[in-house]
Amino acid sequence: MQIDWDELLPPTLPEKASAGGAAEPMQEPVPDAGIAARERDGDNRRRCIECGNLGERGICLAAQRGQVVASRNYTPVRDILRRCEGFAPLPTDPDQRYGIDKWGCLTDCSRPKDVTV
Ligand code: SF4
Repeated sequence: MQIDWDELLPPTLPEKASAGGAAEPMQEPVPDAGIAARERDGDNRRRCIECGNLGERGICLAAQRGQVVASRNYTPVRDILRRCEGFAPLPTDPDQRYGIDKWGCLTDCSRPKDVTV
């Protein structure tokens, strides 16, 4: 038996109907929204591309120094939101705390969890 995926899956994204009855296209989430983007309101996680410890070749410099538990040539996925004890804010980051201070609960269970999302 062969599955007809074209029959099972919707041909396009579902559309959201407005009050007037006319359909509006659904808004796609912005995967690479910057720190100041509205999509990230209340979310204190950061991406590796927003970290001062990401080296030019994509290697985590904190891992090279042994500040995070990873191999010395660790090349993290750069665009995933995360909480990392090795995080170092870039000058453009509105929150200038380092990961070890910002998310101290990652390494010390007795510290309060300052996690928003
Ligand atoms: S220290 Fe953490 S957030 Fe920064 S580049 Fe390394 S893995 Fe990513």
